[in-house]
Formats: sequence, C-alpha cells, structure tokens
Amino acid sequence: MPIYEYICQDCDEKFSRLQSIHVSEKDTSCPKCASNNVKKVLSAFSYSASSLSDLTSSLSGGGLSGGT
Ligand SMILES: [Zn+2]
Repeated sequence: MPIYEYICQDCDEKFSRLQSIHVSEKDTSCPKCASNNVKKVLSAFSYSASSLSDLTSSLSGGGLSGGT
C-alpha cells in the first residue's frame, strides 16, 4: 500500500497515511482537528523517485559503453 501525504486545509496540519488507492480525500480526516477538509499532496519520496529514474535512464542511454 502506498503512503499518501495530506495537508489539512483547516489547521494546516501535514500528515501521512498508509492507505489503499481507493481511499479518497473525503475518507481521510485530520489527526489534529478531525476535519475532512484535507488535500492530498505528492510526497517528497515520489518526487525524488521519479526524478531519480529519469536520471538513471538518461545516464544509461549511452556514454559509458566503451570497449576494450
Ligand atoms: Zn486539521
């Protein structure tokens, strides 16, 4: 199950939840004020993971294959 990060729009509390992809923002409540007025945000982990794979694929694109 992926970890999602949320920010509460009522109290600005940022929290993460381990939940299935079928769970929506409306089913998630803020741990601080119990509001359902939360917004899903992209986690830093998924940002860096995608940029890392971009980097790796561009690096493996060529250059290092030399030969003897
Ligand atoms: Zn809140």
